[in-house]
Amino acid sequence: MGSFGLSANNITHGTSFSADLEPKSFSDESKAVIDFIADYYKNIEKYPVQSKVEPGYLSARLPDTAPHSPESLDDILKDVTDCILPGLTHWQSPNFFGYFQANASTAGFLGEMLCSGFNVVGFNWLASPVATELESIVMDWMGKMLKLPSSFLFSGTGGGVLHGSTCESLVCTLAAARDKALEKLGGGFDNITKLVVYASDQTHFALQKSAKLIGIPPANFRPLPALTRTSFSTEFSLSPDTVRAAIEDDIKSGHVPLYLCATVGTTGAGAVDPIEELGKIANEYKLWLHIDAAYAGSACICPEYRRYLNGVELADSISLNPHKWFLTNMDCCCLWVKHPSFLVDSLSTESDIMRNRSPASNTSTNAAPVIDYKDWQIPLSRRFKALKLWTVIRKHGYSGLMYHIRSDVSMAKRFEAMVAKDERFEIVVPRKFALVCFRLKPKRESEGSELNRELVDALNGSGRAFLTQAMLDGVYVIRCSIGTTLTQDRHVDDLWKLIQEKADRLLSLQEPEHASR
Ligand code: PLP
Repeated sequence: MGSFGLSANNITHGTSFSADLEPKSFSDESKAVIDFIADYYKNIEKYPVQSKVEPGYLSARLPDTAPHSPESLDDILKDVTDCILPGLTHWQSPNFFGYFQANASTAGFLGEMLCSGFNVVGFNWLASPVATELESIVMDWMGKMLKLPSSFLFSGTGGGVLHGSTCESLVCTLAAARDKALEKLGGGFDNITKLVVYASDQTHFALQKSAKLIGIPPANFRPLPALTRTSFSTEFSLSPDTVRAAIEDDIKSGHVPLYLCATVGTTGAGAVDPIEELGKIANEYKLWLHIDAAYAGSACICPEYRRYLNGVELADSISLNPHKWFLTNMDCCCLWVKHPSFLVDSLSTESDIMRNRSPASNTSTNAAPVIDYKDWQIPLSRRFKALKLWTVIRKHGYSGLMYHIRSDVSMAKRFEAMVAKDERFEIVVPRKFALVCFRLKPKRESEGSELNRELVDALNGSGRAFLTQAMLDGVYVIRCSIGTTLTQDRHVDDLWKLIQEKADRLLSLQEPEHASR
């Protein structure tokens, strides 16, 4: 790779970009990149799933200044192979079982290409009418697949928006809840020190970060114990009694309970909070109830999982990430709200340049009102993400999407059954979706963390699989999240063989008699 130091003297002026986006070269080069990606997927199992590079590896391979002259796509792709691929942890590998997957798909990729190809910035209706209109249609489609009440749909009294992440949805809903509460308290911003946010202690840290961002004092963030000595029997869900007691305590001490976040599918354990009971409490004390269904929300399109959303009608907002388990390439988060005006009141700004008039509304006072999605989100600019989700839904259909969820769950059941059969292991948390939390049983409880940490290190170090861990009530558990698009039964079987192989070795190093199955 060649490189030149940039200085005022060697910048060439007057370079024409007229050849860029020229249809023939655009098509040829795009096809070359698609072939490159197709080849990557073909060979993906050959790479170590977890990158093995050391921090800073890339600066030794790339020049420290930008190239002065244009470079060819061939040269760029060669460097992608030589420099970029080694630094990837291969999230699309069928042997990736870590975190929650980000499952890509052909449909997701095609939709992403269309979005990128048009490259419009649909911050308001006028800036690209179809971007706004398709988004509201797709959000209703999604909401109907999830059987959300009409109070969350545009066809009812609510509505939905596509964000990039759950964190963004949390910031926006927290801001809306905060502003309504401050209004009730008489408007003084100082009152923010009274507002309190509640969630289970295994809620994703995105909530704490979001609460901090909107100015809730860190001391007013209440992670309530779901990870307690008894939580193995309660399956790590948040107890309504605990929530009520915390709210009562806060009221007594002059605080104002603001926002309760319930999770459907926690990151650590895949636990589900009791939405209906929490919803009743939230309504009684007038808290904003948000449901974070980032991972497991996608599964709720299947009738057998929909019960986990029972009580959703009591919530103010709900979000889920199609970029986790809905075949939609990064990034995509659906947020539905019951009162869109609360979001808009909190997030809108007006400037002349943004004035949004549909042609009809210039001439008629009866024109349909239009949505300004810029007022439903943090940034002004926004991608045409709806095109991606729309393509995914159309290419798979409701039935195909349910099939996809069920096939991942059935692989998780297969894995769970294999673990359960081996008495050296235990399933730590009852499985609800496609996340299996298990561990190697230690001889002495005090050795459990070390033993299982060594097992995870050995598995990931092998390059043949990638898994992550969680601490649940002081117990180190190994998380096996099944859901990359390329994963099949044989990968799950191979994973189990690998786990047994590494466990054999680990246990034989410790106490030989423990190793025999
Ligand atoms: N909530 C839950 C339950 C999650 O599992 C995650 C990520 O895994 C998040 C929130 C964070 O999502 P995002 O990265 O979209 O903000």
